[in-house]
Amino acid sequence: MKTKKPIKPYYRFNNEVLKSLDENWTRASDHAKILTVDNQKTIKGAKYGYKTLGIHFAPFTLSGQNICPWASKGCAAACLNTAGRGIFESIQKARIKKTQDFQTNRNKFLARLYREISNEIRAAEKAKIKLAFRLNLTSDLQFEKIALNHKSEQSIIHTFKDIQFYDYTKGKRRYEAYLSGADSFPKNYHLTYSRAETSKLDYLKGILKKGGNVAVAFQGIKKDEPMIKTYKGYPVIDGDINDLRFKDQRGSWIGLRSKGKAKKDKTGFAVNPKS
Ligand code: SF4
Repeated sequence: MKTKKPIKPYYRFNNEVLKSLDENWTRASDHAKILTVDNQKTIKGAKYGYKTLGIHFAPFTLSGQNICPWASKGCAAACLNTAGRGIFESIQKARIKKTQDFQTNRNKFLARLYREISNEIRAAEKAKIKLAFRLNLTSDLQFEKIALNHKSEQSIIHTFKDIQFYDYTKGKRRYEAYLSGADSFPKNYHLTYSRAETSKLDYLKGILKKGGNVAVAFQGIKKDEPMIKTYKGYPVIDGDINDLRFKDQRGSWIGLRSKGKAKKDKTGFAVNPKS
């Protein structure tokens, strides 16, 4: 008789967690999906055997509440929220609704997110592909500190401990805590610091020296032109090739070509690579 392969923990619905989510549970099919794959860079991850999914909230104060507490004027103005499908009004409205749902009924929102991630894990296992989740595609929320529900002390990132999560952040203290290995950051969560026009070069170099990575938007490098190799004495990784930031060599800039509104940036958010 054929013996059944044991199912790894978290590679199917975790009944214990689902039981505790019951009171917040509504069928995922009743709603638009929380997770999306429409970000061009996440699609590029497929070439490397990864399916990456994330959440497009309405960034900064667009929903009525600020979900990017460390945003600068420059990044808020150049935010990729309006790139790709974000140009459509219907998409913007859906992102605002999603953000408001998250703010007003968090338990229910996280219950749905839990179910969507579980479904993705099951499908990925069948398809033999790896998964990575970027919950802050257009936000800067401290997901590692948001408990899955009132009965749990763990975040959704802690709960899916075998799955890779990653984000960019502009939060200095948040990033410093991450770099110092603070307990609040689970091992399956990777963060890249994101430079703003207000960032001091010495501070950014300090991050690189400690083995952190810093994303920087460069002006004037065209889509088909190669990324510069070094900047201010540190190596540059072409961040447009894919969005798998957790694979990056430590102590590197993550060079991004200015896109959309950032091409016309005058705040200093996007820098001249020769500066
Ligand atoms: S912090 Fe990130 S998501 Fe928020 S406004 Fe700035 S660039 Fe956009």
